[in-house]
Amino acid sequence: MPIRFYNTLTKAKQDFVPVLPGQVCMYHCGPTVYSFAHIGNFRAYIFADLLRRYLEYRGFQVHQVMNITDVGHLTDDSDEGEDKMLVAAGREGKDPWEIARFYSQAFFVDIEKLRIRKAMVYPRATEHVPQMVRLVERLIDRGLAYVSNRCVYFDVTRFPAYGRLSGNTLESLQAGARIEVNPDKRNPCDFTLWVTDDHHIMKWESPWGMGYPGWHIECSAMSMTHLSETLDIHTGGEDNIFPHHECEIAQSEGATGKPFVGCWMHTRHLLVDGRKMSKSLGNFHILRDLLERGYEADAVRYSLLSTNYRQPLNFTLEGVQASKQAVSRLRDFLRRLEEASATRDNPEAAALLARTVAGFEAAMDDDLNVSSALAALFEFVRDANRLSLSREDAALIRAAFGRFDQVLGVLECRPAILDEEIERLIQERQAARQAKNFARADAIRKDLKDRGIFLEDTPQGVRWKRG
Ligand code: AMP
Ligand code: ZN
Repeated sequence: MPIRFYNTLTKAKQDFVPVLPGQVCMYHCGPTVYSFAHIGNFRAYIFADLLRRYLEYRGFQVHQVMNITDVGHLTDDSDEGEDKMLVAAGREGKDPWEIARFYSQAFFVDIEKLRIRKAMVYPRATEHVPQMVRLVERLIDRGLAYVSNRCVYFDVTRFPAYGRLSGNTLESLQAGARIEVNPDKRNPCDFTLWVTDDHHIMKWESPWGMGYPGWHIECSAMSMTHLSETLDIHTGGEDNIFPHHECEIAQSEGATGKPFVGCWMHTRHLLVDGRKMSKSLGNFHILRDLLERGYEADAVRYSLLSTNYRQPLNFTLEGVQASKQAVSRLRDFLRRLEEASATRDNPEAAALLARTVAGFEAAMDDDLNVSSALAALFEFVRDANRLSLSREDAALIRAAFGRFDQVLGVLECRPAILDEEIERLIQERQAARQAKNFARADAIRKDLKDRGIFLEDTPQGVRWKRG
């Protein structure tokens, strides 16, 4: 059975057939590094991670790229407002390069905590300006872009498919366009490719003057540079559909004459009380605050991951708490498997497991229906709890859950730690402390904590418990 994904462009689920058999070129619109990513952003990135992990589980070699936007993203997506990087620089009294460095580092810390696997490369817009300039030149040469008052615009009337992704027509867009249009544009729907601005702090040379690229051209240029002119999958949050992705299609297909993307996948927004979680509404949470308040990264990951990406998801702290319990239920089950001691293998267990693997895969093949895939696992846990299992049965189950967790990334399917090893490590930590080797002592405590073992130093000695 082939995998089927919903394609925003065709508005239908379709069989996933990459350009090269067994290989997937996949591009994700990444963060604009002007502040901490909020967990709404992480819904989009965790979805991208789930997609990558499942494609790998299915045996594809995935070439995954996520860009970092560090220039040119204006406060208003329709070519209005100020560069977000400069606004942040003004707010924090730093230069925009420092802002970019600081928040991209913070982003990498967060993705690691959320067990998001690293993409092959995270290209930065500021490091690809020559490629963007070349792409803009190609568009001018092909008559799709024009220079006006030293800036460059894409002429949407020259690209008949403009509007197909978002379901807009040029007429409807024109009717809805703002009155206070930029007089340099031929058509109010034309969008910016290059802004010449001598006063912008982040600026580069170009044939049209010193300035900076438009946000949309960045993704076209970086995806071509690091992947290919035709991508198998391109993702983003639903707010990226228009104008960002609509413009990417026009630029990329306009320049190459080839299809840009086989399958467009968009994550529905993470909501708070029914409204999009966003910086501008101020209704956002950032990961480090949640962790400081005692919520666990795995629970946050699970709560963002466990609702299908095309369903709306309302974020609540109670939801994170419930996710923690769901993860614990699965982990506790795996831990209990350690106690399996029946002398005979149970054929029912193997049959149940085979059904569960099939159910998990069928659900994920169906446009990553993760909630139904998880339901298959919980059903298995419920049924397996009633069976008497041998050590061999338990080993098979653990191996299967290890494979599920390659996709889900929440179970920590490491071999369980035995009491004797905990005692041995505690002794070693005591010895390290006596020798004033505090680094080693701390490392042991952290290692144990990562494996779910918590130490407490009491006047009577060290106590430990499983967390
Ligand atoms: P930005 O840093 O604003 O460019 O956004 C980065 C990514 O996060 C984009 O793919 C957005 O579509 C996505 N995004 C922003 N807000 C949300 C939200 N509330 N829920 C899901 N995705 C979002
Ligand atoms: Zn993008």
